[in-house]
Amino acid sequence: MKIHEYQGKEILKKYGVPVPRAIPAFSVEEAIEAAKALGGAVWVVKAQIHAGGRGKGGGVKVAKTMDELKQYASDILGMQLITHQTGPEGQKVRRLLIEEGADIKKEYYLGMVVDRASQKVCVMASSEGGMDIEEVAEHTPELIHKVYVNPVTGLTDAEADDLAAKMGMPAQCIAGARVALQGLYKAFVETDADLAEINPLITTGDDRVVALDAKMNFDSNALYRHPEIVEMRDLDEEDPAEIEASKFDLAYISLDGNIGCLVNGAGLAMATMDTIKLYGGEPANFLDVGGGATTEKVTEAFKIMLKNPNLKAILVNIFGGIMKCDVIAEGVVAAAKQVKLQVPLVVRMKGTNEDLGKKILADSGLPIISADTMAQAAERVVNAAEGKSA
Ligand code: ADP
Ligand code: MG
Repeated sequence: MKIHEYQGKEILKKYGVPVPRAIPAFSVEEAIEAAKALGGAVWVVKAQIHAGGRGKGGGVKVAKTMDELKQYASDILGMQLITHQTGPEGQKVRRLLIEEGADIKKEYYLGMVVDRASQKVCVMASSEGGMDIEEVAEHTPELIHKVYVNPVTGLTDAEADDLAAKMGMPAQCIAGARVALQGLYKAFVETDADLAEINPLITTGDDRVVALDAKMNFDSNALYRHPEIVEMRDLDEEDPAEIEASKFDLAYISLDGNIGCLVNGAGLAMATMDTIKLYGGEPANFLDVGGGATTEKVTEAFKIMLKNPNLKAILVNIFGGIMKCDVIAEGVVAAAKQVKLQVPLVVRMKGTNEDLGKKILADSGLPIISADTMAQAAERVVNAAEGKSA
């Protein structure tokens, strides 16, 4: 689960990491009030969306007068902000953060992820903070310094200070950097985050170390023990199809292609998508209906897939184990009738009651294209999506 920058900064603050004074705003009026409440002479108007790269996309602006502030707040609020992380359609800005302008001496990078290979938290730090960390990672990876933290000791003082020195923090800022490094590490572990980033972490003119941006993602499997984080969820930032699917306990991820996939079992779903790609097609979604799919669940799955305007064909690929093929076939027929299916439907079934399932499909009178092997199913659905005869 993702949260906004201002929410991430609230968490950082709790863990003792200094952040600039800032107030979230949901309207231009609130933005003006926030700036007045903050006082000072320079404010930064920051779009709050669940994606980075806002600065480059025009979602972060420095205002030096109230008129400028009003202008930037009205420009940014409601804009369709396009960044390298939003995809070409961008993300609508519904919230702002009005922040006091910081006196930036230098920008650094600080990030943490769970490293699968070492099964530890990997802390990354670099002198090259700011808006181009992806470029740094690609062209000068030696400038990103890493520590794999022993979970028993946590990030030690020695490790933190060593990283601070490697990222080029001047001597008088090492203590401040330690606070930021250890604070972020503690926040990361205690909130069950799987990604945390402060980019930029800055030093100020008076040598303070401050988090100027904050990004945190959390492990969804651990959310049950963090109600305070669940409260930060912003459904406006999430894919409506995925939200709808989660209500029916369907594991659904939207993708960019045009072939809908309805599969039982995550492994089979992955293999199905691979096979579609092998035959030159592009999946429109990942969808695992799970082991206990009912007619209702299958119908909902069809409805969710069909809301995608790019959808050109559907492949149902079912392995009948505990789940019987005839049950799925009945679900597919009922769903196809209920949603008045307009796109070609290819069905492959293997396993328990396979013959009965196939008979139900054949007797339904629906123009279902059946297939026997994975390869045949993929080839047929790719052809169908391209408008060729299957
Ligand atoms: P993003 O990473 O989405 O582009 P950031 O919050 O990192 O957004 O902001 C982009 C840049 O804007 C920062 O690298 C920094 O240079 C500048 N900036 C952000 N917040 C402030 C602030 N409060 N004061 C001064 N400059 C800021
Ligand atoms: Mg940033």
